Amino acid sequence: MGLVRQNYKNGALRLTRLRAGVAVLAAAAIASGCAQGDRGPERARPAAGQEGAAGQEGAAGRSAQARPPLSSAERLRAEQSARVAAARKWGLRRVPLAAPPAPAKKPVITTRDGFEVDDHEELGLPPVFTTIPTKQKVVFLTIDDGAEKDPAFLRMMTELKVPYTAFLSDYLVKEDYGYFKRMQDAGVVLNNHTLHHPYLPGLSYQRQKREICGMQDVIEKRYGKRPLLFRPPFGNYNRDTLRAAKACGVKYAPLWDEEVFVDHWEYREWDRDLHPGDIVLSHFRGRDDWKGTMPDMVRRFLNMVTEKGYAVGRLEDYL
Ligand SMILES: [Zn+2]
Repeated sequence: MGLVRQNYKNGALRLTRLRAGVAVLAAAAIASGCAQGDRGPERARPAAGQEGAAGQEGAAGRSAQARPPLSSAERLRAEQSARVAAARKWGLRRVPLAAPPAPAKKPVITTRDGFEVDDHEELGLPPVFTTIPTKQKVVFLTIDDGAEKDPAFLRMMTELKVPYTAFLSDYLVKEDYGYFKRMQDAGVVLNNHTLHHPYLPGLSYQRQKREICGMQDVIEKRYGKRPLLFRPPFGNYNRDTLRAAKACGVKYAPLWDEEVFVDHWEYREWDRDLHPGDIVLSHFRGRDDWKGTMPDMVRRFLNMVTEKGYAVGRLEDYL
């Protein structure tokens, strides 16, 4: 618990969390997952220091008593070696950092300055935000629309155990509801991105309501759950958008602080960098739109995030 408040620099989080005897593997993972870079050996060193102590402890523990079926250390070790293998299989430069545990106390989510509509708070409209308030080095991946339905992407995310949140638009999703059912079965929360992806501020309240609440109904009917999250297409909204969203059960309207494509990143902030709690946008797109595949996009995303010392968290854990 307390360990998450420690310094995350240079993968310290992972090393701290794995001190229970898994440090050996983590060190191997970092060393082998790091193709180049001056920080590689430096990162491996502290873990190597723990290797002896942890290894001896483990050996002593095992010989002194009957071996339990699967201790938590062994489970951790197995999980970590699965991570290492998956990272290698999918061509990542480094093994993704394990996300910190979900916060015991959820942060208070408020609308970002400058993103309010008239009477936003008075009307209790869903907050519009681009970052989750947290000091943890964690970012959140959100993927929009639903055009590309790449089975390799589902396999990759399941094997890497990287969480993400989907914002779906029915006109694309209806081509294959089953694909997104498999996504949901893998633990991904499916959220609302309207029926037809219109520019909402150009529509009347009633038509916006049909777009937003209609999609609430589709997701509930197809997937059994009414979304709590809604993202307006293109990030464009007005007061009617948020009123309509609220009317059919939406609690949050997350936007994004960075966008990752298959071949580049785009940033909202002047510093062109990641920040703790940032929400990252991408899209279900493949070779029709991009010079690459969904897995290529995920590789670009994870390589940057891991290199900067961030883990990928589950957005819903913070809401
Ligand atoms: Zn969209």
